[in-house]
Amino acid sequence: MSDVRNVIIIGSGPAGYTAALYTARASLKPLVFEGAVTAGGALMNTTEVENFPGFRDGIMGPDLMDNMRAQAERFGAELIPDDIVSVDLTGEIKTVTDTAGTVHRAKAVIVTTGSQHRKLGLPNEDLLSGRGVSWCATCDGFFFKEHDIAVIGGGDTAMEEATFLSRFAKSVTIVHRRDTLRASKAMQERAFGDPKIKFVWDSEVAEIQGDQKLSGLKLRNLKTGEFSELPVTGLFIAIGHDPRTELFKGQLDLDEEGYLKVASPSTRTNVTGVFAAGDVVDHTYRQAITAAGTGCAAALDAERYLAALA
Ligand code: FAD
Repeated sequence: MSDVRNVIIIGSGPAGYTAALYTARASLKPLVFEGAVTAGGALMNTTEVENFPGFRDGIMGPDLMDNMRAQAERFGAELIPDDIVSVDLTGEIKTVTDTAGTVHRAKAVIVTTGSQHRKLGLPNEDLLSGRGVSWCATCDGFFFKEHDIAVIGGGDTAMEEATFLSRFAKSVTIVHRRDTLRASKAMQERAFGDPKIKFVWDSEVAEIQGDQKLSGLKLRNLKTGEFSELPVTGLFIAIGHDPRTELFKGQLDLDEEGYLKVASPSTRTNVTGVFAAGDVVDHTYRQAITAAGTGCAAALDAERYLAALA
């Protein structure tokens, strides 16, 4: 059993590293579990990030995360590239257990485990991520000026992505598995009224084509079984996100979509001494800068909580 730390941070995306930087600079000696496979979070899987303030010419996602990591470490954050596999957050002293079975104890815990975008599960999907395949129009839309783009999905997010992308694109084709949309009426009307947007109904993506860059899609009509080709150089997959909250079920309050609930505008969860930030809380903005912002807020909330205990 380890000593009782001031604060343990679970997750190492922009939210986790920012919380680590702030708590380290407050001399709280944070212990950060970065995750075993995806230390650095979602931006490790992307290329150019052009919308994180402070980088006039943009920065590669992995470089941005390396900088954040080094900055937190410089002020004394202790970083461990391992997963937390179970937690007990209920008592005054919280415990988290790593993959080796070691139990770590702390007075406060900050959860920044992020969310996972749903994938189509097709062979080329990961290979062409950042090379034509994207999950975020706000992040990547700008790179697709005058491109022919496909958006997959039929909900509000898909309609929002499609109408946003139509500002840049030559054409946007929404591919949906059914013949009606799940999106709200207002979002549907915006999409139907946009002259650049067209629809392919009752269809799914059978193949993502391209070698180094996306060159097109093979679609399968689910009613007729027929295949067709859609020559696009942009693919935006908008079929939902899954927040990584499995660990916390039964201990922390989740909303109906599985995201952690916090007492906004604070980062306090329903359990005293446990704070949450970044995409594990946020199903609206989902940006690196908003995750970093709430990571900062969580650190300040934890710092004040610990000061009141002393
Ligand atoms: P994440 O970055 O998802 O990090 C979560 C962390 O938690 C990971 O390190 C993971 O290993 C860790 N973790 C999870 N479970 C455990 C566990 N049990 N134990 C230990 N650790 C755990 N945003 C922009 O602003 N600009 C962009 O250009 C941009 N491009 C993007 C491109 C792609 C391909 C993707 C997927 C996203 C992009 N985003 C972009 C969105 C941005 O990456 C996210 O909004 C941001 O990373 C969320 O930060 P986070 O810290 O909340 O979570």
